[in-house]
Amino acid sequence: MTVRVRIAPSPTGNLHIGTARTAVFNWLYAHRHGGQFILRIEDTDVERSKAEYTQNILDGLKWLGLNWDEGPFAQSDRLELYRQGIQKLLDNKLAYRCYTSSVELDELRATQEARGAAPRYDNRHRNLTPEQEAEFVAAGRQPVIRFKIDDQREISWIDAVRGKVSWQGSDLGGDMVIARAAQDGAGQNSVGQPLYNLAVVIDDIDMKITQVIRGEDHIANTAKQILLYEGLGVTIPEFSHTPLILSPAGKKLSKRDGVTSIWDFKDMGYVAGALTNYMTLLGWSAPDAQEIFSLDEAAAQFSFDRVNKAGAKFDWDKLNWVNSQYLHKMTPEELLPELIPFWEAAGYKVDADRSWLLRLATLIGPSLETLKGGFEERTGLTTQGGVEISRTFFTANPTLGEEATAQLGQDGVKDILTSLQTALAEMSEIDEDGAKGLLDRVTKERGVKKGVVMRSLRAALTGEVNGPDLIQSLILLHQRNLALPRLQAALAV
Ligand code: GLU
Repeated sequence: MTVRVRIAPSPTGNLHIGTARTAVFNWLYAHRHGGQFILRIEDTDVERSKAEYTQNILDGLKWLGLNWDEGPFAQSDRLELYRQGIQKLLDNKLAYRCYTSSVELDELRATQEARGAAPRYDNRHRNLTPEQEAEFVAAGRQPVIRFKIDDQREISWIDAVRGKVSWQGSDLGGDMVIARAAQDGAGQNSVGQPLYNLAVVIDDIDMKITQVIRGEDHIANTAKQILLYEGLGVTIPEFSHTPLILSPAGKKLSKRDGVTSIWDFKDMGYVAGALTNYMTLLGWSAPDAQEIFSLDEAAAQFSFDRVNKAGAKFDWDKLNWVNSQYLHKMTPEELLPELIPFWEAAGYKVDADRSWLLRLATLIGPSLETLKGGFEERTGLTTQGGVEISRTFFTANPTLGEEATAQLGQDGVKDILTSLQTALAEMSEIDEDGAKGLLDRVTKERGVKKGVVMRSLRAALTGEVNGPDLIQSLILLHQRNLALPRLQAALAV
């Protein structure tokens, strides 16, 4: 049997990291077994679903490289299928029309609350006589459709992550609503908007899903859905409930954690490959303990026995490390197009020729943790990033740091800078040998240690005493006619 799995996001927000991680596990499982990965948009909640969120989710999955084999299918295009399923359950007396009004439900809930009991429907309309039903209809009440849930039933399944899971029918809140009330005037036998559990089951049957892989927050739904599969008389798929992603503090990841959409990660300078790699590590580990892998490499080894039951704590340091591994592996040609949007967003004028930009990417690549860098309020961390490290190459004059100022104030440094300036002024072009020769000449001429020349030059050129390779920095700045004015400015301090 061909493996068929699906990701079924609700378009009620931008692509969330939890949904993306579920998509990763589905993708890995499908690719491990040569199966199909299907994309279904669960947009039956008309008020909260938006087309722009659907687009956002599709774009996000594409950016992450989580290509799907079938779809996207939208539940809103499939209402007739759900109606047929509901009708089948009604015909088989497994579902019924319930006329309980919202006022009556509120009263029921209030009495249960007063008793300290969990809220549940008391199944009061399960066995209405035709006369009783006719009375409600005559009174103008619009029914919802409820599916019968036997309180005595124990529902259990073998979960690929959690082993045997059991659920008591009495813990499912009474007979469940599978379709809302139809619009007023829709006719006595019409059926309103289908609800989540029903639509999911009908779709998973229709799409021949063999393995339902989703977050553990859906476990109670699984118990209900198993009853629906039984009611519809079809084979029940396998289930894998993956651990939730927890905040670094070990709490459920929420909007308050600031970063929840995958676009937040993109904006902070994480690359797609690193993000899918890190998401794979949120709950799964490779048998050989390898931590850096492509999706294909992970798929070759993926299985649910190595997925943890416990929630996966989000670890920014780990993500930064994974991201840096990806950035360090990239060639300058790969890195440059990733850096350019960040440079532009920072207001840098990216008008240098391509070979200069590639040289800059080559210079900073090995030091990068993120494409952006600097202090990130949302994580509370500072990373080494492309915007930060390249600032000095795009701005007219660097601000002098404290240490650089101290360095430039030392005895003899002005003379060193003057020699450097004079020599450099005669070099319209400079390469690595030329730059090295220049430093050697000035060192000799001034009779100082080479380290002093280098420290002074760096301070004058960049306003800092640490940074990327000095020779390369000098070449880059001189090529853009920035080196001489900076030496000049430093001499004026
Ligand atoms: N639409 C559901 C969600 O976004 C998916 C549930 C499922 O995978 O069955 O959580």
